[in-house]
Amino acid sequence: MDSQLDLVAENKEIVRRYRKLLKCARTQIKEKEDEKQIRKAFEIALDAHKDMRRKSGEPYIYHPIAVAQICAEEIGLGTTSVISALLHDTVEDTDLELSSIEKVFGPKVSRIIDGLTKISGVFQYGSSQQAENFRKMLLTLTDDVRVILIKLADRLHNMRTLESMSRTSQLKIASETIYLYAPLAHRLGLYAMKTELEDLYLKYAEPDMYDEIKTKINQTKAARNKFIKEFIAPIEEELKRQSLPGKVIGRPKSIYSIYNKIKKNKVAFEEIYDLFAIRLILDADIDHEKSACWQAYSIVTDFYTPNTTRLRDWISTPKGNGYESLHVTVMSGIGQWVEVQIRTTRMDEIAEKGFAAHWKYKESTASHRENGLELWINKVREMLANNDSSAVDFVNDFRNNLFAEEVYVFTPKGDLRILPNGSTALDFAFDIHSHVGASCIGAKVNTKLVPISYKLSNGDQIEILTSTKQKPNEDWLKFVVTSKATNKIKEALREEKKLIAAEGKEMLERKMRTMRLDLNEELLLQMRSFFDLKSNYELYYRIGKKLISVNDLKRFRDLKQEKHNLNKLAPRDTKQFEREIKQVRNKESDSLLIGEDMDKIDYTLAKCCGPIPGDQVFGFVTINEGIKIHRTTCPNAVELMSNYGYRIIKAKWTSQSEIAFLAGLRITGTDRMGLVNDVTKVISSELKVNMRSITIETNEGVFEGDILLFVHDTSQLEGLIKKLKSVKGIIGVSRFNFDYKPNHA
Ligand code: MN
Repeated sequence: MDSQLDLVAENKEIVRRYRKLLKCARTQIKEKEDEKQIRKAFEIALDAHKDMRRKSGEPYIYHPIAVAQICAEEIGLGTTSVISALLHDTVEDTDLELSSIEKVFGPKVSRIIDGLTKISGVFQYGSSQQAENFRKMLLTLTDDVRVILIKLADRLHNMRTLESMSRTSQLKIASETIYLYAPLAHRLGLYAMKTELEDLYLKYAEPDMYDEIKTKINQTKAARNKFIKEFIAPIEEELKRQSLPGKVIGRPKSIYSIYNKIKKNKVAFEEIYDLFAIRLILDADIDHEKSACWQAYSIVTDFYTPNTTRLRDWISTPKGNGYESLHVTVMSGIGQWVEVQIRTTRMDEIAEKGFAAHWKYKESTASHRENGLELWINKVREMLANNDSSAVDFVNDFRNNLFAEEVYVFTPKGDLRILPNGSTALDFAFDIHSHVGASCIGAKVNTKLVPISYKLSNGDQIEILTSTKQKPNEDWLKFVVTSKATNKIKEALREEKKLIAAEGKEMLERKMRTMRLDLNEELLLQMRSFFDLKSNYELYYRIGKKLISVNDLKRFRDLKQEKHNLNKLAPRDTKQFEREIKQVRNKESDSLLIGEDMDKIDYTLAKCCGPIPGDQVFGFVTINEGIKIHRTTCPNAVELMSNYGYRIIKAKWTSQSEIAFLAGLRITGTDRMGLVNDVTKVISSELKVNMRSITIETNEGVFEGDILLFVHDTSQLEGLIKKLKSVKGIIGVSRFNFDYKPNHA
């Protein structure tokens, strides 16, 4: 083919994509001047990226155009964001200078690009660098939230085009996405984006599961649609009769949420009844929203009986991320529970697009309500100001707060406070003020006396009791979930530790004088090595806390005086670990081959997920125990990959393995005479599989068994599962991680 022709076609395609973007942006644009600016940004980006291509081979400019398109179309952002998105990779990846962008587009755009450039290194995995990047990103959030929204659009497009990346990059990027970006999208109320990010994560982390669920959703579509149609028919008719305009739709739930249900409840796809939700979207004007929603509720419950314990009213008190909706679960005509979500068009748009849509409506919404999102951003600002823990700890903390659902409680004066679910009286005390928290001795909840560890429930009214004699201790960390309380307690503990260490230092100086030893750096180094401590500070603290006694110090002195023991006191090589990692990585231009490199490299199979050949796996370099092999679906995998990406190494199984691996199977069924015998017969005689242990529990005719056995690979295990399922009386067979504790234990 003529390459000249290719280029012509490519240029046409670029222009086509740009026009599509412009068409979409026009719905947000106010003035003609804006369109000119967008065009200018496009031309500058096109020129800056002109010689670059994406991994897929496509022209690089497709990426910024797509990111801008997501900003305009899916988040509903305006001109400034579209311009910034078009230019988001220029300063980082091309010769273009920030100052020239500022000259053309002014300080607003240049500040956003600057923020995006600062956090662009996210793909370079290295120690806590990534966590540090995330922290920077949050700093920009409190500055201009558009930086994060564009960053999310950038990540979404990268996830959509992950196909062309290497398997290792796919896993790393996907893990980071599920660990940080999806929760962040959720917290900002971008449900559509959050759902897509989660589904894409699953597509790459667990391709087989993803395909299976997707296929099954499609296969069951016709039956589901028929059910939905019959379910909504009477509701639609009644809405019309009462002149309540709106539409009723049935939406399938996301692949990821179905996957989570299968995993969490250990059930098969076929056993999940709520594969979809019914949504009523009403056209009501702003003053009649609430009454319209409750009128619709009344119609729904006239036809179907509601489950009163599952009514959620997020209209009277919206969620912290701005979500408003009325959720009710009702019994359908065929004996199945169905979730119905009732909301207005405005609420629906906020729920799908989140933040930006929220601002669009802001002026028109009732002002008596404090905006949950603003409150949240204020909290982030506060956390950042208060926090001096390590970046990794911080991100973990923050992440925990991202996902948390909320609990609504009241002060004695009746002020509403929103805290993450699981918060205690102590969290509440710190939320009021750090001094109140630090001196808290208990609380009165609804006039009843409770301990500081009391877990708050919705509607609790709390009065904190304090004492000037109280001070935080280590145990308190177990009683709090909010990062504000955690940080304040840690801060207080650090202060106290400092005082103890200062005392310890004085004590040590006195003791060394009486022992006639010269307290110099060398001696301190030997002493640290002797007591196995990382720093002088730790040494002083332990002496101050009397964890190291005078006798211990004497033992040290005696050992030192025996000269031949001196080499035992040589300080430990701290660089060794880093070197080991390097060695393994340099050697592994390809993958670690499990089963072959066994004698050369020290590795073991992780207990938390018990991988066997055939599973998708990766290696993780631990500090003390060599390399651990985990399944990519391991409950710990996401955290390991996103926080310690530089310690991940590729790993795969060698084809023919003589070794047997331990796997766990959980069997459920109806109890009958001889069932256990049949099960063990299948396992040991028919398939020649070696069983390590079997525990069986029967309860009122129900049979539950956990079996640990040795297999060669996943195909053998799958064959076995199939065989076991065919045993009469067996209802379910599934694999479990063998540190998993059966609840009947
Ligand atoms: Mn980008």
